[in-house]
Amino acid sequence: MASKMKISLAWQMMIGLAVGVIVGAMVDAQFAKTYFQPLGTLFIRLIRMVVVPLVFATIVAGAAGISDTAKLGRVATKTLLVYAVTTAIAVAMGLLFANWIDPGVGISLSTEGLKAKAVSAPSLVDTLLDIVPINPMEALAKGAILQVIFFAVLFGFGLAALGERGKPVLSFFELVGDVMIRVTNIVMKYAPIGVFGLISYTVAQHGLAVLLPLFKLILTSFLATAVLVLFILTPMVMLLGRTKPGIFFKGIFEPWLIAFTTCSSAAALPANLAAARRLGSTKAVASFSIPLGNTINMNGTAVYMGVCSVFAAEVYGIDLTMADQATIVLMGVIAAVGTAGVPGAGLIMTTVVFTQVGIPLEAVALIAGVDRILDMIRTSINVVGDVASAIVVTNWEGELYSEPYVEGEA
Ligand code: ASP
Repeated sequence: MASKMKISLAWQMMIGLAVGVIVGAMVDAQFAKTYFQPLGTLFIRLIRMVVVPLVFATIVAGAAGISDTAKLGRVATKTLLVYAVTTAIAVAMGLLFANWIDPGVGISLSTEGLKAKAVSAPSLVDTLLDIVPINPMEALAKGAILQVIFFAVLFGFGLAALGERGKPVLSFFELVGDVMIRVTNIVMKYAPIGVFGLISYTVAQHGLAVLLPLFKLILTSFLATAVLVLFILTPMVMLLGRTKPGIFFKGIFEPWLIAFTTCSSAAALPANLAAARRLGSTKAVASFSIPLGNTINMNGTAVYMGVCSVFAAEVYGIDLTMADQATIVLMGVIAAVGTAGVPGAGLIMTTVVFTQVGIPLEAVALIAGVDRILDMIRTSINVVGDVASAIVVTNWEGELYSEPYVEGEA
């Protein structure tokens, strides 16, 4: 009897993607919205269901595991440094390409009647204070990931301080993490259909007619992001993370694809944790930096901030001075850090940058027409940046591949 052919999950997802593109091109937007979008939404909900318990359990176990506070401080400092540098380079890359391609020149789409909701940048002090939850249970219930991380790290330290007595609780959280990985594996069986639902809806919704006028914006975003990956992140991983590009790309494929299709870094978090571990990151570094990076390290969104600012300025005929561009880099980093890992969050956060350089916020409505496509590009790179950073920080600690990774362990 012929052995049963087994197609790997990644391939099944690629097939879902291809079929989604074909079917999406054949049906109308309303049909896709009624019948296909729910399939995709179900997938996003299923995956996001895993995130809060997974993050909490892995970070508690991770922090209790690194009971050495000096080490945690070192890992945190290195991680934040890599995040800050790559994010700033990413915004600059977006600016560079947009200044070169001029995506907004010649666009005369009417923005009349389109009103964007302004979001004023929260003050730095408030942003920092907001990391501390008043009520950890509320943070868990709301899924406020930074607050969850903050509490989980302290909880982990408290647990470590108990020594032997804390062991049962530590193993409890280790097990919860492992259980959540198993739950993710179950959910992922549905991924090919979910991917089909998401992509067919996107293609049906954004036919060529919608995409064409803003094609240059999409192209700029794509090129700047591709160059960031190929010429900044990849060499970084090679030189500072001792990892060959082929191995890196293979390792990040699954979270990349999940992020690309769902437009949610949060949805790709479980796969991203596994990818970082498979690529040699230690449990301690991965379980700290991947969930943290998932919320604050958004390289793709940072590129997008730079591209959109120039695009919008060009549409409105505003000249951006060098000082304006420097402001965009700074505010772009802040906006990217403040962006939540959910679909469309970056679009709202562009207002933080636009306000600073006097770009009318109606520009947001203009970008919104193609934002799903831009979101696919930026989200998929957001998660790639997290894994790249985890590899670099682990190597910097001299611990790359120092802990064998057992598939299915959190
Ligand atoms: N969708 C992005 C993410 O989840 C955030 C954004 O809109 O930029 O990473």
